[in-house]
Amino acid sequence: MRIYFGVLKLQEKPEENHIKRMADLLRQGATLTDLSCPVCASPLFRLKDGTLWCAKDEKKVIVVKEGEEPEKTSNIAYEKLEETLLTKVQEIQNKIQKTENVEELQKLSIALSELLNNLEKIKKMKKS
Ligand SMILES: [Zn+2]
Repeated sequence: MRIYFGVLKLQEKPEENHIKRMADLLRQGATLTDLSCPVCASPLFRLKDGTLWCAKDEKKVIVVKEGEEPEKTSNIAYEKLEETLLTKVQEIQNKIQKTENVEELQKLSIALSELLNNLEKIKKMKKS
C-alpha cells in the first residue's frame, strides 16, 4: 500500500475542489441542470430529493420564477454549447455508473471535471 494521499491533497488547487464536488455529486446520482447559481454562476445540480444545489457555495438554491429576466438573444450560441456539454456530462455520468474498471473510472472522472469546468466558464460568460 502506497501512502500518497497526503501529497495529492497538498497539490490540489483550491479552485478545483468544487469541480471535484460536482463530479462526486454526479456519481451519487444527482443530475446537472441547465440552471446556474445566482451567486457564482456555477452549474446547479438537482439532488435525488429534488433540491437544487450549488457545489461551489455548498448551498441549497431556491429558484424564484417571478420577475425572471428575459433571455438575452446574444446568449443563443452559449446555450447551444451548454446543451452539448450537458449531453456529454450525462453520457459520462451513465458510463461512470456502469463501469467497474478503476482505470476507466479515473479517465471518466477527468473528462467529467473538464466538462464541468467548461460549463462553468460558459455560464460565467452568459452572466456577463
Ligand atoms: Zn454558487
